[in-house]
Amino acid sequence: MSQTDFDVIVIGGGPGGYVAALRAAQLKLSVAVVEAQHLGGICLNWGCIPTKALLRASEINHLLHDLPAYGFKADGVSFDFKKIVARSRAVSKQLSAGVAHLLKKAKVPVFDGHGKLDGTLANGRRKVLVSKDGAAPTTLTAQHVILATGARARVLPGLEPDGQFIWSYKEALVPETMPKSLVVIGSGAIGTEFASFYRNMGADVTLVEVAERILPVEDVEISQLARKAFEKQGIRVLTSAKIGTLQKTATGVSIPVTVNGKADTLVAERVISAVGIVGNVEKIGLEGTKIQVDRTHVVTDALCRTGEPGVYAIGDLAGAPWLAHKASHEAVMCVEAIAGRKVHPIDPTKIPGCTYCRPQIASVGYTEAKALEAGYKVRVGRFPLIANGKALAMGEPDGLIKTVFDAQTGELLGAHMIGAEVTEMIQGYVIARTGELTEAELAETIFPHPTISESMHEAVLAAYDGALHF
Ligand SMILES: Cc1cc2nc3c(=O)[nH]c(=O)nc-3n(C[C@H](O)[C@H](O)[C@H](O)COP(=O)(O)OP(=O)(O)OC[C@H]3O[C@@H](n4cnc5c(N)ncnc54)[C@H](O)[C@@H]3O)c2cc1C
Repeated sequence: MSQTDFDVIVIGGGPGGYVAALRAAQLKLSVAVVEAQHLGGICLNWGCIPTKALLRASEINHLLHDLPAYGFKADGVSFDFKKIVARSRAVSKQLSAGVAHLLKKAKVPVFDGHGKLDGTLANGRRKVLVSKDGAAPTTLTAQHVILATGARARVLPGLEPDGQFIWSYKEALVPETMPKSLVVIGSGAIGTEFASFYRNMGADVTLVEVAERILPVEDVEISQLARKAFEKQGIRVLTSAKIGTLQKTATGVSIPVTVNGKADTLVAERVISAVGIVGNVEKIGLEGTKIQVDRTHVVTDALCRTGEPGVYAIGDLAGAPWLAHKASHEAVMCVEAIAGRKVHPIDPTKIPGCTYCRPQIASVGYTEAKALEAGYKVRVGRFPLIANGKALAMGEPDGLIKTVFDAQTGELLGAHMIGAEVTEMIQGYVIARTGELTEAELAETIFPHPTISESMHEAVLAAYDGALHF
């Protein structure tokens, strides 16, 4: 008979859940994962990874159409859209299988089914019911239960995905054909990545945002530069835009929109709704427990503990920022605390955020406005990529690196980047923030030449009037 009692049961096998299980196994805790659909969660199957595989294709398409700038000539360049989508699905499948392999190697059993907390205890241990296809549920028990059920797309009334004209991120990842025109509603990371992908594949794209600027969580200068870059690429950007009731037509959708009091109608073959996500708090047995839900997220303390002893929530289920690396970091912290290790609660200003549109955007810590709001006196440095040799050599001169320092202590408060490869470079500043480095250590750091990362150094020097190349 297979084991049913564990130290830890994790419900959900995404980057929160599977990482929690792997770490628990490393720490010699007996652990099981319950997963209803696919190991790797949204991240590997419907989020981070398949979007990046599609974006890689659109980057290549962009380059192919820019060949003369590099001295090349190629006629009749075309693409097979089905193959591009199939490649993205294959990458997801490979990684999901990789997670299954890692769990097997770590001897972590995976229960295939829907997991739900049972309010009653069995000999003082938590009960989890696992159901599959209407069969009688299997009962598992454990001392600790980690809820890692993730989140799904927020659905606005009138914008319910219909599998045809109205898409959420899921439909947008597996289109049968390339739409000629597309409206993307919502300009957070997900919306801008899809706008970028479809535009760079050749679609007419309109990006609609209700807030005053696109990418509203980013530093205002970065948002402005992103808008400028998108418009230069031919993306129509509407901000402070309120949409009315969508009408379906024979060939697509028609959406009334008002921008600063001026009415217009957007007509397109497809619309992608990217207006946020909601936590999967339903049907996991929270009713009648002391676990609190705030809107659609489980409330936890700094160590991911819920109001119910022995029950934890991590990742998207536990709220913003909705990022895979935040989910995995919480997973490790939560399990290490369960194992009795000393852990450090996460400081949200040390979590990087990346958007893989063209040009890429990456940031960590305080924006200039947030730093001022928090009462800091700041010193700000800026370095444009047009003054960077590697960026010019690569043919990627558009972009900016901006640093925000505490004027009193010299601590790096935040860094904001737009341009080529910045999602790979932001980690340098994340290490600086995690180590609470000041401008002195950063100025003394030697950056390799020629790299775009030299601009990170220059943006530090610029904050102290010492930039050398601008
Ligand atoms: C289009 C898109 C692009 C994204 N790109 C990025 C990116 O580039 N970088 C980044 O950091 N983040 C990105 N994200 C966000 C990222 O995917 C999430 O933050 C991350 O997946 C959260 O991990 P999680 O483990 O909390 O939840 P999830 O990944 O959602 O995993 C939850 C798992 O729990 C399972 N489950 C749910 N309920 C039950 C139940 N009752 N019983 C059993 N199993 C259950 C689900 O099937 C799922 O596998 C993106 C998201 C989307 C939608």
